[in-house]
Amino acid sequence: ADRLAQLPAAIRAKINTHPCFSEDAHHHYARMHVAVAPACNIQCHYCNRKYDCSNESRPGVVSELLTPDQAVKKVLAVAAAIPQMTVLGIAGPGDPLANPERTLETFRQLAEKAPDIRLCVSTNGLALPELVDELCQYNIEHVTITINCVDPDIGAKIYPWIFWNHRRITGRKAAEILIQRQQEGLEKLVARGVLVKVNSVLIPGVNDAHLPEVSRVIKAKGAFLHNVMPLIAEPEHGTFYGLMGQRSPTTAELDALQTACAGDMAMMRHCRQCRADAVGMLGEDRNQEFTLDKIEQLE
Ligand code: SF4
Ligand code: SF4
Repeated sequence: ADRLAQLPAAIRAKINTHPCFSEDAHHHYARMHVAVAPACNIQCHYCNRKYDCSNESRPGVVSELLTPDQAVKKVLAVAAAIPQMTVLGIAGPGDPLANPERTLETFRQLAEKAPDIRLCVSTNGLALPELVDELCQYNIEHVTITINCVDPDIGAKIYPWIFWNHRRITGRKAAEILIQRQQEGLEKLVARGVLVKVNSVLIPGVNDAHLPEVSRVIKAKGAFLHNVMPLIAEPEHGTFYGLMGQRSPTTAELDALQTACAGDMAMMRHCRQCRADAVGMLGEDRNQEFTLDKIEQLE
């Protein structure tokens, strides 16, 4: 709370009305995600491509993939129906920045047609550094980077490969590049005054002991929030391959990690790992009220 009070008024205002940053705001403001980004440029061991990206999204259901034009239509319809809708995010179902044409076209149109809606994006960070300048041209207020490690030896256990510069790179080298790109993207965003939230997936036995170090590094670089999320290891979500039988953390383990990483940085314990097409207040999903066929009937 003290740290919040020290922030410039403009940043405080952004936070206070943001359902994902403010415990209080999430009772009063709504957010929505549009699923426009199908592809991904890395492989996480915990990902099952049948579902949404675990960067932000709870697995279990596949989002309805939209074109940028359809997404814009949907956002405008939801904004008209839910006046508390202040934030639009692109979080999947793959990596938004691995689909730059689709993601940036959606932002471009929304910045023009709905300038009051605040935009955000989440990413694994691989494609982030060269897109920071363009993102900053739209109303992008915050970016979420999923950073699970800052040590390539640990990264090699989490990421079997990345696709970068037109080729597939595996092993420690892949993790090293990904980590370097994430840190570079974080630094560039902070330099541009964008709020950066870091998500980490807590994987017991893989990065649990390492996450306090991740927290220290990203805080030193100016990340605003560190959000530690549990690995969701459900049988229908596939296995953490290479590590058969990988389990999810217990509530007590998650709690302990969140406390260890909190430091002076506000933690976001109310994040619900929303789906890539979530609509409404946090913890509620009104997506079914706004499917494309229903929106098309409105016209
Ligand atoms: Fe899956 Fe997301 Fe990882 Fe890509 S970044 S592999 S979509 S969890
Ligand atoms: Fe907010 Fe977390 Fe939901 Fe994203 S996934 S909209 S950060 S609560």
